Amino acid sequence: MKVLVTGSAGRVGSFVARQLLASGHQVRGFDLRAADLEDAAFEEVVGAFDDREAASRACEGVDAVLHLGAFMSWLAGDRDKLFRANVEGTRIVLEAAAVAKVGRFVFASSGEVYPENKPQFQPITEDHPTKPLSPYGVTKLIGEELVKFQGRASPMETVILRFSHTQNAGELLDPDSFFSGPRFFLRPKITQQEGFGNQTAADLLRAADPGQAALVLARNENGRPLRMHITDTRDMSSGVVIALTHPKAAGGVFNLGATDPVDFADVLPVMADKTGLPLVTVDLPGAGVWYHTSNQRMRETLGFEPEWPIMRMLDEAVEAWKRRQV
Ligand code: NAD
Repeated sequence: MKVLVTGSAGRVGSFVARQLLASGHQVRGFDLRAADLEDAAFEEVVGAFDDREAASRACEGVDAVLHLGAFMSWLAGDRDKLFRANVEGTRIVLEAAAVAKVGRFVFASSGEVYPENKPQFQPITEDHPTKPLSPYGVTKLIGEELVKFQGRASPMETVILRFSHTQNAGELLDPDSFFSGPRFFLRPKITQQEGFGNQTAADLLRAADPGQAALVLARNENGRPLRMHITDTRDMSSGVVIALTHPKAAGGVFNLGATDPVDFADVLPVMADKTGLPLVTVDLPGAGVWYHTSNQRMRETLGFEPEWPIMRMLDEAVEAWKRRQV
């Protein structure tokens, strides 16, 4: 097949592109940035999703589109860019794909289309009401509607994958990582909370600073540790590749992610033990993230089987952390 992978310079897109190339497919990337990928079967369009000319060039002659690229930001100042990339960009890529008579369009949505932070029931299934609590989640939900509309308006098959939070294992113990830094490391978390304007949280965290780099076990105001899914990029990639061709994927909506959520009270002590970093526990204002999303539909309908549970990811994370220390 010839497959367009959007977000081809990103975490998931670059891995999917490599996986498809390794299986003998031809791949075209489409991203604002060039991918670090040299392969005779790889070509790319460098441009923005909402640039109609670039989107048309990207979709021309491909059998399928994996729309994995998006802008992820939770900062108020990024709002216009967020909607341009994820809503306008998705609409324009979809329209270009329909004009190019693409056979299948797979869309990377997000668990943030649910109220993941305040679910009405758990585990969260695909039937859970979609009521995003963040502008990013709103852009993904509008994206889903645009995908469904194009599925009705054209012969193109569509698949919606509601992505779990996704990390490369090597990012987990990197204090500079966009997600994992402020999630697990105390000082990056202080900086993040200050950036969000959460002064009370920043002050509570600062009060716990032991005077050296440290890990933080964040809990909610009642002392309940956070719980969420963290899925390895490799598992996400294998789910995306299944969605590309599986006959039963067409027209479907699937939660894609690890089977079990990660309880921070389980992993932080292991991280501290394996790195030798001190671990501090801080109870932060608010209810805190505590969710479990079901991947049962993806496993039972499409045969998805994740292979990288968090403790397996952690082994690699620790190796990467050790390499960064020398
Ligand atoms: P990433 O940030 O690593 O990659 C996204 C890529 O999209 C980047 O290379 C970026 O340059 C490109 N991009 C952004 N805006 C663009 C635009 N306007 N035009 C062209 N290219 C643009 O993200 P990822 O972790 O690989 O995520 C892949 C997909 O999964 C995204 O759609 C994301 O919203 C979704 N998702 C990710 C997570 C996660 O935790 N990583 C969770 C839920 C959903």
